[in-house]
Amino acid sequence: MTLTTPHDVDHQVAVVREVAARHAAETDELARFPVEALTAMRETGLLGLPVPVEHGGAGGTTADVVRVSSALSRDCTSVGMIFTMHCQQVATLARFAGPGLARNVLPGVARGEVYLASVTTEAGTGGHLLSSGAELSADRDVLHVDRFAPVVTGGLHADGFLITMRRPGAVSPGQVSLVYADRDQVELTAEGGWNPLGMRATHSVPMRITGDVPADQVVGEHGKFPEMAVLCFAPYAHLGWAACWLGAASGALARTVRMLREPAERKRRDLGSDLLLHRLSRVRERLDGVHSLIQHAVSVLASGADPASHPVQLLLNAVKLTASEQCVAAVEDLVELVGMRHGYLRNSPLALERALRDLRSAPLNYSNDRLRAADGALVLMDQEVRFARHLR
Ligand SMILES: Cc1cc2nc3c(=O)[nH]c(=O)nc-3n(C[C@H](O)[C@H](O)[C@H](O)COP(=O)(O)OP(=O)(O)OC[C@H]3O[C@@H](n4cnc5c(N)ncnc54)[C@H](O)[C@@H]3O)c2cc1C
Repeated sequence: MTLTTPHDVDHQVAVVREVAARHAAETDELARFPVEALTAMRETGLLGLPVPVEHGGAGGTTADVVRVSSALSRDCTSVGMIFTMHCQQVATLARFAGPGLARNVLPGVARGEVYLASVTTEAGTGGHLLSSGAELSADRDVLHVDRFAPVVTGGLHADGFLITMRRPGAVSPGQVSLVYADRDQVELTAEGGWNPLGMRATHSVPMRITGDVPADQVVGEHGKFPEMAVLCFAPYAHLGWAACWLGAASGALARTVRMLREPAERKRRDLGSDLLLHRLSRVRERLDGVHSLIQHAVSVLASGADPASHPVQLLLNAVKLTASEQCVAAVEDLVELVGMRHGYLRNSPLALERALRDLRSAPLNYSNDRLRAADGALVLMDQEVRFARHLR
């Protein structure tokens, strides 16, 4: 078996980016799923990046997934987000699924045959990750799934789903289980369309998922999703999303600088203008801040720090909160800098308006208000103000 080398990953990313860039304007315009980019992720093997080597994958680390998510998002934030959310599901399965379930699903992911979608948001509990209103019912060795999901990225294109529901016979909404369902095991009914401001190519439609799955398709122990969320699901989400938002804003800055340096543009603008230079500096400062925070959090986790410890949770929350605010602010700055024609018109090759619309979703994608309330409670518990640090 050959391991994917960094060079291979760079090649895979280059192929997928080219396809994503070619279709980005059209998938955004039509709010359609980027099937071409998903096919490229399947065919290049990129979809298998986070699958452990023993299951035929590349054994990519969180750092690898962060790097790739960011790179893909430079041309199309939706493609980056589709990739990173898939990787979050794979990482959770790799860490918590029993041996049988892991053997049934992960080799298919490594071969590019299985793209995984995430079903956590609910109509009743909204974005609250650690509770659920819908309950699984159990019948001998079978679990009955009947779940309405208001937002499922790529739901109509996924080959498998990780679904949160209350465990059978739960006595509180916090007893949430995570269940794997293969596309062939469930009936999917689209219950509406997808016509948002941004992130349009994620095609995150509302849907109902019904069907029976074998009882051993529970990931980890019944009712233990909240623990899995703290250890793996949430850290992966915060880092992966932040990487996508950073990629989107970095792509916007790169396109802007390239345009500003063109000879024709130099004739039109004074590149020595203090206002222009200050704005560029501020954008770069915002992005370097987000980049540093992400890299620090990735290396703290890689050093073996406990994701459940308060300082690490606070750091991961800071990654999400900061990235979701600073990346959209950076693109706002760029719009001011270049003005109406390149900053506001939809046919500008800079695509700043698309980046701005996409990034506007960042504070909503797991509501910053909700996260700040949880974060503030952690701050109250940390009188010593201990910061997360490397263990070695
Ligand atoms: C592009 C995109 C793709 C997504 N893909 C998926 C997916 O594939 N699968 C999936 O399950 N979900 C997905 N989501 C949903 C996402 O993860 C969040 O759950 C969702 O965006 C939260 O929606 P909400 O604002 O309605 O919910 P809520 O979190 O319920 O928030 C509703 C409102 O209540 C406020 N609020 C909530 N809690 C508090 C509080 N404690 N204090 C003060 N105010 C509060 C919020 O500010 C907000 O205004 C996606 C979202 C986006 C934007």
